[in-house]
Amino acid sequence: MDKAKVEKVKSIVRNIPDFPIKGIQFKDLTTAFKDPEGLKIICDEIYELYKDKGITKVVGIESRGFICGAAAAVKLGAGFVPIRKPGKLPADTISVDFRKEYGTDTIEIHKDAIQEGDVVLIHDDLLATGGTMLGALDLVQQMKPSKVYINFICGLADLGGRDLFPKEIELTTLFDF
Ligand code: AMP
Repeated sequence: MDKAKVEKVKSIVRNIPDFPIKGIQFKDLTTAFKDPEGLKIICDEIYELYKDKGITKVVGIESRGFICGAAAAVKLGAGFVPIRKPGKLPADTISVDFRKEYGTDTIEIHKDAIQEGDVVLIHDDLLATGGTMLGALDLVQQMKPSKVYINFICGLADLGGRDLFPKEIELTTLFDF
């Protein structure tokens, strides 16, 4: 992503100190999403990165992964699949427990959400420790898609989350803090 666009989007992400617990610098992307130019830059950039990859499903992680994940799916001509917190999805699911930057959590996906021929892009707003996305990757891989890509709008580079992912999986962030 070109430098001016990175600076534009970074400048409109709001930092909230000590949310949701003391010591966390929470990157509030809602301030980038509410800005028409910011939202367009983010969605266009995800499209540019993945337009030639043959993506058939975009998987978005609740809840901030739904916003640009769904927009990217429309632009890419792909379907959209939600990964949700426990008890929210109505049909049969598979679930996984994971650790994140603050606390532990569980996520679920419909067990018929992905087929073996699918080329999947898993998307979330922010990479912190990587726990959430590792859980999502586990769920998606259980359904044996032909290829998986991972994208975040931004990453917290100091936490080293990127190092936890297998080298053969292409992982992108649009920018890092
Ligand atoms: P992790 O599993 O530690 O990579 O955490 C990633 C998930 O938690 C994403 O869905 C983020 O929305 C959220 N998250 C974790 N840490 C932060 C943070 N410092 N600022 C904003 N969101 C965060």
